[in-house]
Amino acid sequence: MPDKANRLGSRIFGGRPSTIDVYELLRRKILEHTIAPATKINIMQLAKELGVSATPVREALRLLQGDNLLVATSNKGYATTETLDLKGVRDLFELRLLIEPWAARIAASNRLQNPGIDLADEINSFDAKADSIQHEMFGHDTRFHTAILASTENETVIQAFSQAHCHLHLFRMFRDDWDWRTSIAQHKAIADAIANGDPAAAEDAMREHLNSAYSRFIEVMPKDPKTRPLTKVGSSKLIRK
Ligand SMILES: [Zn+2]
Repeated sequence: MPDKANRLGSRIFGGRPSTIDVYELLRRKILEHTIAPATKINIMQLAKELGVSATPVREALRLLQGDNLLVATSNKGYATTETLDLKGVRDLFELRLLIEPWAARIAASNRLQNPGIDLADEINSFDAKADSIQHEMFGHDTRFHTAILASTENETVIQAFSQAHCHLHLFRMFRDDWDWRTSIAQHKAIADAIANGDPAAAEDAMREHLNSAYSRFIEVMPKDPKTRPLTKVGSSKLIRK
Protein backbone atom coordinates (compact mmCIF):
# COMPACT_ATOMS: atom_id res chain seq x y z
CA MET A 1 0.00 0.00 0.00
CA PRO A 2 1.43 3.43 -0.85
CA ASP A 3 2.51 5.71 2.04
CA LYS A 4 -0.15 8.27 1.19
CA ALA A 5 -2.93 5.68 1.66
CA ASN A 6 -1.32 4.51 4.91
CA ARG A 7 -1.31 8.05 6.27
CA LEU A 8 -4.96 8.52 5.30
CA GLY A 9 -5.86 5.23 7.04
CA SER A 10 -4.19 6.20 10.30
CA ARG A 11 -5.85 9.62 10.19
CA ILE A 12 -9.33 8.08 9.78
CA PHE A 13 -8.83 5.28 12.30
CA GLY A 14 -6.26 6.83 14.67
CA GLY A 15 -3.77 4.01 14.00
CA ARG A 16 -3.48 0.83 12.00
CA PRO A 17 -7.10 -0.27 11.47
CA SER A 18 -8.32 -3.81 12.19
CA THR A 19 -11.12 -5.54 10.28
CA ILE A 20 -13.44 -4.65 13.18
CA ASP A 21 -12.51 -0.94 12.91
CA VAL A 22 -13.35 -0.99 9.20
CA TYR A 23 -16.53 -3.00 9.87
CA GLU A 24 -17.75 -0.54 12.53
CA LEU A 25 -17.02 2.48 10.35
CA LEU A 26 -18.84 0.99 7.34
CA ARG A 27 -21.74 -0.16 9.53
CA ARG A 28 -22.12 3.38 10.82
CA LYS A 29 -22.04 4.77 7.27
CA ILE A 30 -24.80 2.33 6.26
CA LEU A 31 -26.91 3.10 9.36
CA GLU A 32 -26.55 6.84 8.76
CA HIS A 33 -27.22 6.43 5.01
CA THR A 34 -23.85 7.98 4.12
CA ILE A 35 -23.84 4.80 2.05
CA ALA A 36 -27.42 4.75 0.77
CA PRO A 37 -29.70 1.67 0.66
CA ALA A 38 -29.48 -0.47 -2.51
CA THR A 39 -26.07 0.94 -3.47
CA LYS A 40 -23.36 -1.09 -5.19
CA ILE A 41 -20.09 -1.21 -3.24
CA ASN A 42 -16.84 -0.63 -5.09
CA ILE A 43 -14.25 -2.43 -2.93
CA MET A 44 -11.14 -0.83 -4.42
CA GLN A 45 -12.62 2.65 -4.29
CA LEU A 46 -13.75 2.12 -0.67
CA ALA A 47 -10.29 0.87 0.34
CA LYS A 48 -8.76 3.95 -1.27
CA GLU A 49 -11.21 6.29 0.51
CA LEU A 50 -10.46 4.68 3.88
CA GLY A 51 -6.71 4.50 3.29
CA VAL A 52 -6.55 0.74 3.88
CA SER A 53 -5.78 -2.31 1.74
CA ALA A 54 -8.59 -4.30 0.14
CA THR A 55 -8.23 -7.23 2.61
CA PRO A 56 -9.81 -5.65 5.75
CA VAL A 57 -12.49 -4.09 3.54
CA ARG A 58 -13.39 -7.51 2.06
CA GLU A 59 -13.47 -9.09 5.54
CA ALA A 60 -15.62 -6.23 6.89
CA LEU A 61 -18.01 -6.60 3.95
CA ARG A 62 -18.46 -10.29 4.75
CA LEU A 63 -19.40 -9.37 8.34
CA LEU A 64 -21.88 -6.78 7.06
CA GLN A 65 -23.40 -9.43 4.80
CA GLY A 66 -23.92 -11.55 7.95
CA ASP A 67 -25.80 -8.57 9.44
CA ASN A 68 -28.05 -8.47 6.33
CA LEU A 69 -26.85 -4.95 5.64
CA LEU A 70 -25.21 -6.14 2.40
CA VAL A 71 -26.11 -8.71 -0.22
CA ALA A 72 -23.71 -10.44 -2.58
CA THR A 73 -24.05 -9.41 -6.22
CA SER A 74 -22.61 -10.99 -9.35
CA ASN A 75 -18.81 -10.81 -9.85
CA LYS A 76 -18.13 -11.28 -6.12
CA GLY A 77 -19.39 -7.78 -5.37
CA TYR A 78 -21.75 -6.41 -2.74
CA ALA A 79 -24.64 -3.94 -2.54
CA THR A 80 -26.36 -2.46 0.50
CA THR A 81 -29.79 -3.94 1.24
CA GLU A 82 -33.01 -1.92 1.09
CA THR A 83 -34.33 -0.60 4.42
CA LEU A 84 -37.24 -2.51 5.94
CA ASP A 85 -40.72 -2.15 4.49
CA LEU A 86 -43.83 -2.09 6.68
CA LYS A 87 -44.07 -5.89 6.74
CA GLY A 88 -40.39 -6.17 7.71
CA VAL A 89 -40.91 -3.76 10.62
CA ARG A 90 -44.04 -5.60 11.75
CA ASP A 91 -42.26 -8.98 11.59
CA LEU A 92 -39.41 -7.73 13.80
CA PHE A 93 -41.78 -6.21 16.37
CA GLU A 94 -43.87 -9.39 16.50
CA LEU A 95 -40.71 -11.35 17.27
CA ARG A 96 -39.70 -8.81 19.90
CA LEU A 97 -43.18 -8.85 21.49
CA LEU A 98 -43.00 -12.63 21.77
CA ILE A 99 -39.57 -12.67 23.38
CA GLU A 100 -38.84 -9.47 25.27
CA PRO A 101 -41.81 -9.08 27.68
CA TRP A 102 -41.08 -12.67 28.76
CA ALA A 103 -37.36 -11.84 29.13
CA ALA A 104 -38.18 -8.77 31.27
CA ARG A 105 -40.36 -10.99 33.49
CA ILE A 106 -37.51 -13.52 33.92
CA ALA A 107 -35.01 -10.71 34.61
CA ALA A 108 -37.26 -9.33 37.37
CA SER A 109 -37.66 -12.81 38.87
CA ASN A 110 -33.89 -13.29 39.04
CA ARG A 111 -33.01 -12.49 42.64
CA LEU A 112 -29.43 -13.72 42.55
CA GLN A 113 -28.29 -11.98 39.38
CA ASN A 114 -30.83 -9.20 38.99
CA PRO A 115 -29.57 -6.92 36.14
CA GLY A 116 -31.34 -3.83 37.62
CA ILE A 117 -28.13 -2.04 38.66
CA ASP A 118 -26.46 -2.61 35.28
CA LEU A 119 -29.57 -1.38 33.47
CA ALA A 120 -29.66 1.78 35.62
CA ASP A 121 -25.95 2.37 34.88
CA GLU A 122 -26.64 1.98 31.16
CA ILE A 123 -29.45 4.56 31.32
CA ASN A 124 -27.35 6.99 33.37
CA SER A 125 -24.44 6.80 30.93
CA PHE A 126 -26.65 7.79 27.96
CA ASP A 127 -25.13 10.95 26.46
CA ALA A 128 -27.91 13.23 25.20
CA LYS A 129 -25.26 15.63 23.81
CA ALA A 130 -23.50 13.01 21.67
CA ASP A 131 -22.43 14.02 18.12
CA SER A 132 -24.93 11.60 16.64
CA ILE A 133 -28.04 10.89 18.69
CA GLN A 134 -28.81 8.04 16.28
CA HIS A 135 -25.49 6.34 17.02
CA GLU A 136 -25.79 6.97 20.77
CA MET A 137 -29.34 5.55 20.88
CA PHE A 138 -28.33 2.58 18.72
CA GLY A 139 -25.54 1.62 21.16
CA HIS A 140 -27.63 2.28 24.27
CA ASP A 141 -30.77 0.52 23.07
CA THR A 142 -28.80 -2.52 21.84
CA ARG A 143 -26.94 -2.87 25.17
CA PHE A 144 -30.12 -2.31 27.24
CA HIS A 145 -32.27 -4.91 25.49
CA THR A 146 -29.39 -7.40 25.10
CA ALA A 147 -28.64 -7.22 28.85
CA ILE A 148 -32.25 -8.14 29.68
CA LEU A 149 -32.20 -11.06 27.24
CA ALA A 150 -28.80 -12.22 28.52
CA SER A 151 -30.15 -12.39 32.06
CA THR A 152 -32.59 -15.14 30.96
CA GLU A 153 -29.53 -17.34 30.24
CA ASN A 154 -31.56 -19.01 27.47
CA GLU A 155 -28.94 -19.40 24.73
CA THR A 156 -31.49 -20.42 22.08
CA VAL A 157 -33.54 -17.27 22.61
CA ILE A 158 -30.45 -15.05 22.83
CA GLN A 159 -29.13 -16.48 19.54
CA ALA A 160 -32.49 -16.21 17.73
CA PHE A 161 -32.77 -12.56 18.77
CA SER A 162 -29.20 -11.77 17.80
CA GLN A 163 -29.62 -13.36 14.36
CA ALA A 164 -32.64 -11.15 13.64
CA HIS A 165 -30.38 -8.05 13.99
CA CYS A 166 -33.42 -6.08 15.18
CA HIS A 167 -31.48 -3.06 16.37
CA LEU A 168 -29.36 -2.68 13.24
CA HIS A 169 -32.35 -2.75 10.93
CA LEU A 170 -34.63 -0.59 13.03
CA PHE A 171 -31.97 2.03 13.77
CA ARG A 172 -31.18 2.22 10.08
CA MET A 173 -34.63 3.81 9.84
CA PHE A 174 -33.99 6.23 12.70
CA ARG A 175 -34.84 9.85 11.93
CA ASP A 176 -33.26 12.91 13.53
CA ASP A 177 -36.63 13.93 14.97
CA TRP A 178 -37.03 10.55 16.72
CA ASP A 179 -38.47 11.00 20.21
CA TRP A 180 -35.57 9.41 22.13
CA ARG A 181 -36.66 10.95 25.47
CA THR A 182 -39.76 8.73 25.49
CA SER A 183 -37.58 5.66 24.87
CA ILE A 184 -35.26 6.58 27.76
CA ALA A 185 -38.23 7.19 30.12
CA GLN A 186 -39.69 3.80 29.13
CA HIS A 187 -36.32 2.11 29.68
CA LYS A 188 -36.27 3.60 33.16
CA ALA A 189 -39.73 2.15 33.92
CA ILE A 190 -38.54 -1.30 32.74
CA ALA A 191 -35.27 -1.08 34.71
CA ASP A 192 -37.11 0.05 37.89
CA ALA A 193 -39.62 -2.83 37.66
CA ILE A 194 -36.77 -5.31 37.17
CA ALA A 195 -34.72 -3.82 40.05
CA ASN A 196 -37.82 -3.94 42.30
CA GLY A 197 -38.26 -7.64 41.48
CA ASP A 198 -41.76 -7.05 40.05
CA PRO A 199 -42.11 -9.54 37.13
CA ALA A 200 -45.65 -8.46 36.06
CA ALA A 201 -44.72 -4.75 35.99
CA ALA A 202 -41.49 -5.51 34.10
CA GLU A 203 -43.37 -7.55 31.49
CA ASP A 204 -46.03 -4.85 31.05
CA ALA A 205 -43.45 -2.04 30.85
CA MET A 206 -41.50 -3.88 28.15
CA ARG A 207 -44.67 -4.60 26.15
CA GLU A 208 -45.72 -0.95 26.39
CA HIS A 209 -42.25 0.17 25.25
CA LEU A 210 -42.30 -2.12 22.19
CA ASN A 211 -45.88 -1.24 21.22
CA SER A 212 -45.07 2.45 21.53
CA ALA A 213 -41.89 2.13 19.43
CA TYR A 214 -43.82 0.18 16.78
CA SER A 215 -46.52 2.88 16.61
CA ARG A 216 -43.85 5.54 16.12
CA PHE A 217 -42.29 3.56 13.28
CA ILE A 218 -45.50 2.94 11.39
CA GLU A 219 -46.55 6.59 11.71
CA VAL A 220 -43.65 7.62 9.48
CA MET A 221 -43.78 4.73 7.03
CA PRO A 222 -45.69 4.58 3.76
CA LYS A 223 -48.93 2.67 4.25
CA ASP A 224 -49.27 -0.72 2.60
CA PRO A 225 -52.86 -2.05 2.54
CA LYS A 226 -51.58 -5.62 2.04
CA THR A 227 -49.81 -5.66 5.42
CA ARG A 228 -51.95 -6.99 8.24
CA PRO A 229 -51.78 -5.12 11.56
CA LEU A 230 -49.49 -6.15 14.40
CA THR A 231 -50.81 -9.22 16.21
CA LYS A 232 -51.98 -8.07 19.62
CA VAL A 233 -50.47 -10.02 22.45
CA GLY A 234 -52.45 -9.69 25.68
CA SER A 235 -51.08 -7.98 28.77
CA SER A 236 -49.56 -10.11 31.51
CA LYS A 237 -52.73 -9.50 33.52
CA LEU A 238 -54.71 -11.47 30.94
CA ILE A 239 -52.35 -14.38 30.46
CA ARG A 240 -51.32 -14.71 34.09
CA LYS A 241 -53.45 -17.17 36.03
ZN1 LIG B 1 -35.64 0.21 23.89
